[in-house]
Amino acid sequence: MNPRKLKIDNIKVYLLPLIGITIVFGIMGSIMLYSLEEHFNDRAREEYLNIASGYSLSLSKAAEAEEVVNDLLAEKLSIAGNAVIREVAPFDDEFLKRTALLMEVDVIEIYNSDGVIINATNADHLGWKAEKGHPVDNFFISDLNSYVGGVRQDSISKYYIKYGYFRMPLGGFVQVGVMADKVGSFLGNFEMQKLLSEIEGTNEVRVALFIDSENRIIGSTNEDDVGNVIMDNEAIEAMQGDQEQGFVGHLFGERLYQVFVPVYFENQKIGTLGIGASMSKTDEIIRRFSYMGLLILFAIYMSALLMGKLSYNKDKKFMKLAYHDSLTGLPNQVYLREALAENLRKNKGKKKALLLVNCDNFKIINMILGYDYGDEILKEMGDKIKSIVEKDIMLFRLSADRFVLYIENYRDKSELTELSNRITELFIRPFRVKDTIKYLTIQVGITEIGDEEKSIDQMLKEASLSLSTVVESKSENYAFFDKNMDERMQRKEVIERELRQVIQGKDESAFYLEYQPLVTLKDRRIIGFEALARLRSKNLGMVSPVEFIGIAEHKHLIIPLGNIILKRACIFIRDLNLLGYDSIKVAVNISVLQLLKDDFTDVVKNIIKESGINASNLELEITESVIFENFDVINEKLKELKAVGIKIYLDDFGTGYSSLHRLKELQVDTLKIDRSFISHIRDEYDSTVIARDIISMAHRVGLTVVAEGVELESQKAYLLMNDCDIMQGYLFSHPLREEDAISILRENQDEGLLQHKR
Ligand code: C2E
Ligand code: MG
Ligand code: MG
Repeated sequence: MNPRKLKIDNIKVYLLPLIGITIVFGIMGSIMLYSLEEHFNDRAREEYLNIASGYSLSLSKAAEAEEVVNDLLAEKLSIAGNAVIREVAPFDDEFLKRTALLMEVDVIEIYNSDGVIINATNADHLGWKAEKGHPVDNFFISDLNSYVGGVRQDSISKYYIKYGYFRMPLGGFVQVGVMADKVGSFLGNFEMQKLLSEIEGTNEVRVALFIDSENRIIGSTNEDDVGNVIMDNEAIEAMQGDQEQGFVGHLFGERLYQVFVPVYFENQKIGTLGIGASMSKTDEIIRRFSYMGLLILFAIYMSALLMGKLSYNKDKKFMKLAYHDSLTGLPNQVYLREALAENLRKNKGKKKALLLVNCDNFKIINMILGYDYGDEILKEMGDKIKSIVEKDIMLFRLSADRFVLYIENYRDKSELTELSNRITELFIRPFRVKDTIKYLTIQVGITEIGDEEKSIDQMLKEASLSLSTVVESKSENYAFFDKNMDERMQRKEVIERELRQVIQGKDESAFYLEYQPLVTLKDRRIIGFEALARLRSKNLGMVSPVEFIGIAEHKHLIIPLGNIILKRACIFIRDLNLLGYDSIKVAVNISVLQLLKDDFTDVVKNIIKESGINASNLELEITESVIFENFDVINEKLKELKAVGIKIYLDDFGTGYSSLHRLKELQVDTLKIDRSFISHIRDEYDSTVIARDIISMAHRVGLTVVAEGVELESQKAYLLMNDCDIMQGYLFSHPLREEDAISILRENQDEGLLQHKR
């Protein structure tokens, strides 16, 4: 399973405005380009219409000149024709050539009455006969005596020639022709081609045309077009009316500005002047604007991208901070909750389990060696666990020394057990941080998630419950959650709640101290009491201190609670003092967490001062199990306490791993042999138990010895026999309420006095 990545939602934040900008930019750009093109088209139309109008006038004038020339030529052709007619046939070709030369014409041909050429200036034409519909045939079959036509292409020579036809009196007719270029030369300044090419010279004009009423191109700057008929519909339409027209459209397959201007001669439309101009300039401008637009858009994209990237990086950093633990770099609790919610939803029906890994002694290490050291340990811990994380396992740091492994797709419970063992095995070897070696004790609480719906809190609670059973059981380093644990958990919650009330002073009577006498073995004299905390829960009845002190330690309530206990014990001492029992000591149990607090010695001294008692009446009991792990720190504090006269008891001796050698160095005055050693004693001569070894060893190093849990006379006898100093146990007295403790003390003292007197 992969750690969570930045969600796509975050990218959407940048993408949507960008798409918006692109759309707006696209629409605005298109409108702008369209308007720009319109503007240029309008300007072009105006410009080319101006040009065309000017030239249409020239063309009109030229047409006028052409008319004159045509008249002259018609006359010239008539003279030549009539000159031939006047001659008497038969003609010969030489005569025709001579006449042509004389009359300054180019073609003279004689057609017989069948319409066949019988004499011609050009011998190639002899024998030619016009087909039906040909201008020659048209004249041949007409009633006309003579006819002078316009310029047309000759069917045989393909030259452009102006022809005149003249009927001969005895049948047949004469055809006289003048070459078109000669017509042109007659026209002097009228040269349509010249005018057209002049137009072509202006601006971006690509083609200039003169078109007749049948849409035939009479003149064109592109000579290949002459004679062709225009097929483009837009152009045809534009030439039909009497109005000037200008537009952008296709002409000869090319997109051009086109203007069409009618040309008049003597109020008669004689044709249309058409101009087609290139759009390249406009296109270029439009292209430039488009490029510019694209460039701006690109710049916007780039800055948006940059901003997005910066913001993404920032978000990523925040995400990292929000979802990861800065110390170990592992996903944190927030992440755990989100990832689990997602996985539980997605992978319904799959096997899933939550493993809660806890380091039992981390709090103490942290307190003794400081947070820097603690941090190093946690980092190492994270790295170690990370090293066994594989596919289908997610690792999180839940809180201080708690790590969570979420596992999917495992085989069965045995795989989880195996994984738990692998985790604890990681910590078999001690840690070395800053030249200090530490052993970490690791436990794993496991909860499996089947098909039933469970909240993440529930799962964490279950894992944490199973964890607490590991801590209690001490036999295995892991435990699976079972339903009974839930009840225990609820019980713990009730106790925690009630302890909080006690601390807040809301429920004074629920919490009190009982005092169990400490009696000298030799003469049964009460020399002091051990103060034992009691909690009478409204809901649960009497709760053992083993249970509620453990909860107070776990829930960080032991410091305020410990202070309450100390204060009450000191008040009891003061009451005893007031009653005249000056030498009676009261021993108070101290949690190691209290002892490890920096200000513990000051707190104790203050309480003593406030209650106005003598420090030598107060004794503190500390349990053996944790002392030797943190020997130097604790010993230092004990020394300080002893300096003000407080005696120190080493409680539950024999249950820990104290080395006798170190015991000598430890700043304690009294050693309390744990009850388990006493309960095994069968009679006063029992040699199987080691209690007597403990007593003699303790005496050797100068310690007083107290035997705990003395219930039987035989045990007492054994202890007496082995020189034990003090006993404590039901045999003499159970722990007692304050008044009863004072009563028993009084009785004991009276008894003592009696014995003394005796
Ligand atoms: P401990 O300090 O070793 O206290 C002795 C325990 O043995 C007490 O249990 C006492 O009632 C019990 N006891 C005494 N004589 C006999 C006997 O003859 N037979 C049997 N079976 N038991 C005997 P209790 O009061 O339940 O306390 C249990 C433990 O809770 C204490 O063990 C101590 O570790 C802790 N504790 C009690 N009060 C306090 C407190 O005020 N502060 C702290 N930190 N721990 C406390
Ligand atoms: Mg004790
Ligand atoms: Mg004890």
